[in-house]
Amino acid sequence: MSGVSRREALAGAAGATAAVLAPAATAQARPAHAGHRVDVVVIGAGLAGLTAATDLVHAGHSVVVLEARDRGGGRTLNRSLGGGHVIEVGGEWVGPGQDRILARARQHGVGTFKTYTRGQQVLEFEGRVSRFSGLIPPLPEPDAGDFNQLLGKILSLEGTVPLAKPWTAPNAATLDAQTLETFKLANSSTRGARFLLDLATKAVFAAEPRDLSLLHALFYLRSGGGIINLTSTAGGAQDSRFVGGSQLVSIRMARALGRRVVLSAPVRRILHPRSGVTVISDAGTWRARRVIVAIAPTLAGRIDYEPGLPAARDQLTQRVPHGSLIKFEAVYPKPFWRAEGLNGSSYGEAPPVHFTFDNSPPGGRPGVLLGFVAGSEARRLTNAPAAVRRRSVLGAFTRLFGSAAAHPRQLIEHNWSEEIWTRGCYAGYLGPGVWSDFGAALRTPVGRVHWAGTETAEVFTGYMDGAVRSGERAAREVRPAL
Ligand code: FAD
Repeated sequence: MSGVSRREALAGAAGATAAVLAPAATAQARPAHAGHRVDVVVIGAGLAGLTAATDLVHAGHSVVVLEARDRGGGRTLNRSLGGGHVIEVGGEWVGPGQDRILARARQHGVGTFKTYTRGQQVLEFEGRVSRFSGLIPPLPEPDAGDFNQLLGKILSLEGTVPLAKPWTAPNAATLDAQTLETFKLANSSTRGARFLLDLATKAVFAAEPRDLSLLHALFYLRSGGGIINLTSTAGGAQDSRFVGGSQLVSIRMARALGRRVVLSAPVRRILHPRSGVTVISDAGTWRARRVIVAIAPTLAGRIDYEPGLPAARDQLTQRVPHGSLIKFEAVYPKPFWRAEGLNGSSYGEAPPVHFTFDNSPPGGRPGVLLGFVAGSEARRLTNAPAAVRRRSVLGAFTRLFGSAAAHPRQLIEHNWSEEIWTRGCYAGYLGPGVWSDFGAALRTPVGRVHWAGTETAEVFTGYMDGAVRSGERAAREVRPAL
């Protein structure tokens, strides 16, 4: 736990974080809400909002960050395992190319460590459990060949989507008129190929192929360096984790902002006449020259705007739902699978757990097996009794990793659809036609109201890196106007 204080290690839990965030004002920090008048109000103390606020403060502007929860970090959240160990129940992995989140982490003294990848992975397909090495689970023919040609088509299409304006891609109207599911059905014929595409979709989007516009899926893949990068561990998007947990980056950014970050301040209304902005939250009212709404579009749509937003912006926010995901983390005295030559990664056809990772802390003690329940399965399990969820998840872990998996000392469950200030994850996605008809409204400011949040990023959209990039872009956008 080098470099992580005990207070920070405990800070992930709701409530506990407030103590870390609120009082530690830096020397130059002053109560920015004195008089409740600032240059910029930032809504949301996730990575996007904290980045925007930090950059504006460094440029000499007065800022307040209004955060609905009693903690910062948004979709990143640490969970203490005791003994100074933490794991993440929200976003956690970073990899090559995610330079902006890595730079912010470095600035705040948060290091990284490699995801455990030594050993083989497990595949459960057509009722049989086997081991394999490499990125793509081996399938029998003709399924393997069928998947290779399907993957080839995705690889050639993903490069055609411009990140700034996906709707201007060649053939955009056709790509945006179909779902990833209809593309899959038209371009594959075997159970194995379809299983692997479903699996990749759940892993990357926490959604089903039928939920996504093909154009959106291709945009998102390209934004993250391509489907191979986004589904790879070593050298890919799951390459590394943060020492002390990913939320530590936000905790330290918020601490540096001091009392500029106001917790338990859900924003309900934004008045934005030509003369200025008034932001009304449960913790008070702030007047400002600009406001940056650094929250996901679907949540931004739940704020009341006066005057009302243009039709295109409001209709966009009606159309950006979040994926569905429950993280289950089973805690064992040690990662027993490592001694058996396994690295904890698995891919399963049978519900409810479709993929797992070794999520143990850096020293490998205790052992943590992380199972993702995503898309339809998450929607189904959300409504099941807790005992049924536990039984079915541990049943899957046992099929994949043997009887040693059956009795963890703890099973941690985190369902992001139930978090009222997130309502699903990893991020908002776009169904058919949305990029074509409403895409321009995603990032375009409305008068004095600016938009940030990972959904607005061109690069690594949906990821922590995208969140940081969106905050940097929003700060650049408002600065000339201040
Ligand atoms: P958020 O983190 O959602 O921050 C928005 C903030 O605004 C929140 O704190 C919220 O409480 C607040 N808020 C909302 N409404 C209001 C309101 N009305 N008033 C005031 N405040 C409000 N990314 C990766 O890079 N790697 C991963 O491995 C990864 N895995 C993930 C796994 C899970 C389970 C989840 C949930 C996410 C994962 N992500 C991952 C995605 C990543 O965590 C997000 O992209 C990123 O954290 C989003 O940051 P943000 O600032 O854009 O939004």
